[in-house]
Amino acid sequence: MKEIKTDLIVMGSGLAGLTAAVNAAKKGAKVVLLEKRPFQGGGVSNTPMMTMAVKNKVEYLDKAFNTHMNYTNWNADPAVVRAWIKNSYRIPEFIKDLGIDFQMVVETPLEKIGAERGYCGGFPNGYNLGDYYFFKPRGKGHGAAIICFKAVEKLRELGGKIVFNTAVTGLIKEGDAVIGAIAQEKGGQEVKVTCKALIVASGGFSDDADMIKEYTGHIYTNNNCDGEGDVLFNTQPNAQLTGDGQKAVWAIGGAKGAMGINGHNLVPGPGIIGNNPWIVYNQIRTIQEQPYLWVNQLGQRFINEAMSNDHMAMGTAIARQPKKRGYLIFDEATKRNMENVGLDYIYHIFPADKLLNVTAQFEDLIQVKGNRHVFMAETIEELCQQTGIDYAGMSETLKRYNQYCDKQHDDEFAKNPGFLRLVKEGKFYALRVFKGGYQAMGGIKVNGKCQVLDNNFRVIKGLYSAGDCAAGEVFGNPPIGGIGTSTISFSQGLVAADWACDYIQKAEVL
Ligand SMILES: Cc1cc2nc3c(=O)[nH]c(=O)nc-3n(C[C@H](O)[C@H](O)[C@H](O)COP(=O)(O)OP(=O)(O)OC[C@H]3O[C@@H](n4cnc5c(N)ncnc54)[C@H](O)[C@@H]3O)c2cc1C
Repeated sequence: MKEIKTDLIVMGSGLAGLTAAVNAAKKGAKVVLLEKRPFQGGGVSNTPMMTMAVKNKVEYLDKAFNTHMNYTNWNADPAVVRAWIKNSYRIPEFIKDLGIDFQMVVETPLEKIGAERGYCGGFPNGYNLGDYYFFKPRGKGHGAAIICFKAVEKLRELGGKIVFNTAVTGLIKEGDAVIGAIAQEKGGQEVKVTCKALIVASGGFSDDADMIKEYTGHIYTNNNCDGEGDVLFNTQPNAQLTGDGQKAVWAIGGAKGAMGINGHNLVPGPGIIGNNPWIVYNQIRTIQEQPYLWVNQLGQRFINEAMSNDHMAMGTAIARQPKKRGYLIFDEATKRNMENVGLDYIYHIFPADKLLNVTAQFEDLIQVKGNRHVFMAETIEELCQQTGIDYAGMSETLKRYNQYCDKQHDDEFAKNPGFLRLVKEGKFYALRVFKGGYQAMGGIKVNGKCQVLDNNFRVIKGLYSAGDCAAGEVFGNPPIGGIGTSTISFSQGLVAADWACDYIQKAEVL
């Protein structure tokens, strides 16, 4: 078997792994980064468009920390959260040091932390933690791809090594310390890499259907939500995130940390989004963000629809419904309003003041693209037949809902009266919406130094973890999410490398 010796092994070349590897190389460690795919950044880290950092001032750090902990009902690990937030100010410096500038920075004044929605949108109200750094896009793509690319260059410049097409398959533990890993090259040949410390940064587990079922209760399905698995739509199909790091850590006695999928409300393809929820082919995603009537399979409302542009809340609420699905419903009058007057919510990622020929967009999806989750009917009865929504329940809901619209007060869920629009005039339109598995994250239990813990919550020497595979601890159990998680990947990458290098130096002294 081929053998390699190094100070530090990093498993995975996403934002967490690359940040850790570059930081450790800057500190003088000999680094070998093993990546199972043929390129850096995997299927996920090439996609983010912005990250978040909290100013390195005590009042900002304290307020962001308490806001986040309160958001999780103190269900998260406070030491892990504190370390992430305290080190986040280093992220912009780290990115600039790669020779990359930001497209724009949106600062959050102290009084707005915890007081309003974050600029990036889609996330909970009152959950604004810090400043938003938007990456310069690469063509029409997202700018994090450039960060990953430049980080590889930097790593090599600093003498580090990145080995593609080489998957870590197991960790080597001697006594109470990790001293290496076994990896497999594309051709099947095994490589033994020995090290003084190892950082697991291999991301989530969205592509392992068994893990999804066992640890989240969802049934994984494909882009079109085919078959009976109509419950989870993976927003990053084929990211090849199969929980390898989690399994390797558990196999040597690492504890199981919080695991879950953060939510996202999505109408499945084809014809609506590309291989990524931010690549859209038409205006359906814009419609899906609107605060119109939402019902479940029984025809019952289940949320104050003003939440419809809060992805986490919608994803969570949809997953609680029968068959884990919801329906957005509107009528011809509302459709005309979208086309002639405008939208209630405008999302900066899909900017559109007014929509263009909504009926034609629906017809194209139904008749040409064959999308099974988009509906249009002359009557409510027909719409119920098409969708399978219970007609009696739907009729009852509509009777009440239209009364709320007439009197401009939502007795049921107190929706903003400005969003109460009658559902009366055919045609009627419906979108079947699922919880999208934006990221299946967590599984590795870490402490504030990103050290991996065993089943007795004792440190496994020499073993660290960062990024999506360790992010469960940031949100509690189960982790629902709430923010763009690249801030965690970057910050934990820095922290894990700090402590791994500290350990390596001490190990050398001993
Ligand atoms: C569509 C989309 C858009 C997003 N947008 C934003 C955003 O705008 N802002 C934001 O803050 N966050 C965003 N996020 C979240 C953010 O992208 C992730 O939190 C972050 O990139 C995760 O980084 P990571 O390094 O932990 O994991 P990953 O990026 O998943 O990297 C893990 C790496 O490990 C490799 N690997 C896996 N198994 C092995 C193995 N056995 N051996 C070796 N290597 C292995 C994988 O191939 C991969 O390269 C977005 C996520 C998605 C899906």
